[in-house]
Amino acid sequence: MQKAGGRAPCVSLCLTLVRIRVIMSTATALTPEILAKYQPVIGLEVHVQLLTASKAFCGCVNQYGGEPNTHVCPTCLGLPGALPVLNRRAVEFAVLAAKAINCEIRETSVFSRKNYFYPDSPKGYQISQFDKPIAENGWIEVLDAAGMPKRIGVTRLHMEEDAGKSIHDGFADSVAKTYIDLNRCGTPLVEIVSEPDLRTADEVFEYLTKLKEILLYTGVSDCNMEEGSLRCDANVSVMLKGAKEYGTKAEVKNVNSFRYIRAAVEYEIERQIGVIEDGGRVVQESRLWNSGEGRTYSMRSKEQAHDYRYFPEPDLPPLVVGAEWQAEILKQMPELPEARRARMIAEYEISTQDAATLTAEREFADRFEAAAKKAKSPKRVAALLTSELTMRLRLAGLEPEQSPVSMDGVVMAADLAESGEISSKILKQLLDICFEKGEDFAAVYEREKPQQISDTGAIEGMIDEVIAANPKQVEQYRGGKKTVAAFFVGQVMRVSKGQANPAVLNELVTKKLDALGPI
Ligand code: ADP
Ligand code: ZN
Ligand code: MG
Repeated sequence: MQKAGGRAPCVSLCLTLVRIRVIMSTATALTPEILAKYQPVIGLEVHVQLLTASKAFCGCVNQYGGEPNTHVCPTCLGLPGALPVLNRRAVEFAVLAAKAINCEIRETSVFSRKNYFYPDSPKGYQISQFDKPIAENGWIEVLDAAGMPKRIGVTRLHMEEDAGKSIHDGFADSVAKTYIDLNRCGTPLVEIVSEPDLRTADEVFEYLTKLKEILLYTGVSDCNMEEGSLRCDANVSVMLKGAKEYGTKAEVKNVNSFRYIRAAVEYEIERQIGVIEDGGRVVQESRLWNSGEGRTYSMRSKEQAHDYRYFPEPDLPPLVVGAEWQAEILKQMPELPEARRARMIAEYEISTQDAATLTAEREFADRFEAAAKKAKSPKRVAALLTSELTMRLRLAGLEPEQSPVSMDGVVMAADLAESGEISSKILKQLLDICFEKGEDFAAVYEREKPQQISDTGAIEGMIDEVIAANPKQVEQYRGGKKTVAAFFVGQVMRVSKGQANPAVLNELVTKKLDALGPI
């Protein structure tokens, strides 16, 4: 411990120096004009773990974590003579995921052995799909730099199994040894391979966000990147604009957040342009992202890449997903995010922006819709959820499901605001109290309910005061600028400390101002 503590400043100084050197060696050379000469090209390979109860080819529980090497059996340990049996649910999830990203399903697909030797894969091969994957030719829509919708092609979606995990640190003898945990061995995966259709790091970020959103809606995966349920490799190349052929690609492996993937792609684009501008040549290789340093490192050259010697898996028959089974599976397809947004915009007259926020997670959208059906104005419920509530949740560091204000509370608040029984100022104060005290809206409202002034005489008195004090605005109103009425409403609200009944106030302000006649 002491040794490490003493060394820390030195390590961090070294890292700083490395970073400065990296920035200097690229940023000084690469002007916007130079960068603009190049066209980046990116294709993604995304691995997604499926949420089946058991593993892909055996009955072991499919569950993250657990005591190492306890979720294993002869099949997933690759013991001689043990035979794989395909998990029906994994096929259903693969079909659902594939259909949700607009792929065609191949009626008869074939499992193949991908042969390689690595300690975390005891069989010496991975069961995957090669030339006859279960699904092909899909697409996911993203917005390009100009905000226009653009389809990113999905080359294929195939089924395979995950490998175990190598544990390189955390043990007393970790310097000398690597430990293996095979619990993950045989976890069902789909790999989703995109066409090289992506052009910017932002498009990459958007594609991944869209893909994750769709997969979460279908329920086939929890897409938890920290636990490795969703993993992404980014293939990046650059070419001169107008060139006929793509440049040589480098593959950035296993970056564990979308933000880091965006940063890694951005870094990689500039690195490759730097290499070419210096008269060099990009080498085909795998690279690793180092988030601490904000750069990628060469991991292994693809020139010496393995030949996987694919051949059809002799222990599994071809997989047939006929029309009937497909139709059966499609019954489980929920309404997908894009369709849901369009419907919600039409049904509740909410903005595109609000619809996007509300549908980002399926559960959130479900809760909104349940509330919207009970409320006087769904639009107001949407506004309340996406602005006032979201903001307070963020400030308090809470997830939506931890909100002190229940959905019934939201409906109540929205209805009170809609009918004009409480002003927006009071509404905000009441919500503040809900979050301070951790109480639901109904309780806070009952206790703190504002003494509303609905007495027309009292409100008229305040309006007269405000009119007398603001001759310039009165003149504007009389000159035809009717929107100035809002100014008077606001002023009276201030004078009344937010207690004037908004509905009554609005009506009286217009009446009084109109009574003055035009000039
Ligand atoms: P490999 O044979 O090296 O695995 P593939 O042709 O199978 O390469 O493509 C793997 C991934 O790399 C796909 O997502 C594809 O879109 C992407 N890709 C292929 N060529 C390029 C390129 N020149 N630049 C960027 N991405 C590419
Ligand atoms: Zn097993
Ligand atoms: Mg390939």
